[in-house]
Amino acid sequence: MYNPFIAEGIMSRFWSTTVRGLTPYIPGEQPKIPNLIKLNTNENPYGPSPRVLEALRAEAADTLRLYPDPNAERLKDAVAAYYGVSPNQVFAANGSDEALAHAFQGLLKHPAPLLFPDITYSFYPVYCGLYGITYETVPLTDDFDIDLEDYLRPNGGVIFANPNAPTGRLIPLSIIEGFLSRNAGSVVVVDEAYIDFGGETAIPMVERYPNLLVIQTLSKSRSLAGLRVGFAVGSPELIEALERVKNSFNSYPLDRFAIAGAAAAMADRAHFDKTRQAVIRTRETLTTALQGMGFAVLPSAANFVFARHPIWDAEVLAGRLREKGILVRHFKGHRIDQFLRISIGTDEAALHLCQALLCILGDR
Ligand SMILES: *Cc1c(COP(=O)(O)O)cnc(C)c1O
Repeated sequence: MYNPFIAEGIMSRFWSTTVRGLTPYIPGEQPKIPNLIKLNTNENPYGPSPRVLEALRAEAADTLRLYPDPNAERLKDAVAAYYGVSPNQVFAANGSDEALAHAFQGLLKHPAPLLFPDITYSFYPVYCGLYGITYETVPLTDDFDIDLEDYLRPNGGVIFANPNAPTGRLIPLSIIEGFLSRNAGSVVVVDEAYIDFGGETAIPMVERYPNLLVIQTLSKSRSLAGLRVGFAVGSPELIEALERVKNSFNSYPLDRFAIAGAAAAMADRAHFDKTRQAVIRTRETLTTALQGMGFAVLPSAANFVFARHPIWDAEVLAGRLREKGILVRHFKGHRIDQFLRISIGTDEAALHLCQALLCILGDR
């Protein structure tokens, strides 16, 4: 089995210089330990809509011998209908990571540096390395917020996650609009992987700002991390750039299951609302419980919380939780190495987590 931690030491004379220079992204672990409480990769604890499963079963047919629709029209129509935009303002991708990758290559690579926060989704610098994009990181404020005023300087593009990861902090739409009106000369990408858990999407603003690209995923709020579907919404000129990259790389990034399942997920608003509300409720109870144990918890608009304990070292705490069968994510980065990022699971998972923490904190 491929293990990036072990593979790190390998070098081969067969590699291209590009490959030698890469620093790949390391995903959260997916161990095959039974009864593990997995709060480390921001997956949704609830299953996808039953209508998704029905659509997938219908796709398991002889038609699999045929290529899927290269344009994923059913999915684009479903996204366009959901957000009240036109299908030529929608790009469909094999996970939002792919939409991001194409945006980096097709829209964010310019002589002036790309700007993004110093603490954010760690895939951004990886894409810069892959595509040879010059970038500068902009520090978060002392409160771990993105201050868009700091991005008002010459740039070849701006990208940020809203809510940001791994902090969970949200920028209000009015602030984003103020920034867009003063940064009209380069592309602004808003990565809304977590927007459905407490924020308002910037998608309606694509009509007014032709340089705005909004990227979303079905992995988190629509419980489909295993299906690999994401999309981007923007002006037709931005979408066309992504289509040009896509059609120079892989004509069929979404298979028949992905197109059918994702379209069904977009159409089932009731299931979507019920499950995301449940996640939000659990986040609020868990936040209060963690605060009761002395944790400082950043106010989160996402399906995870970012919390630190005043006494306990975060890495030690993550290790102790692991021994008790609970996985949370710890990042070694500057300023965040004393935080734990805890995904929101079911109420039952939150209860187990709190019991484990009480037990650990108690035996000091
Ligand atoms: C999870 C995540 C993604 C990737 O989502 P996929 O659609 O599963 O590729 C993108 N951006 C951020 C900030 C994320 O947390």
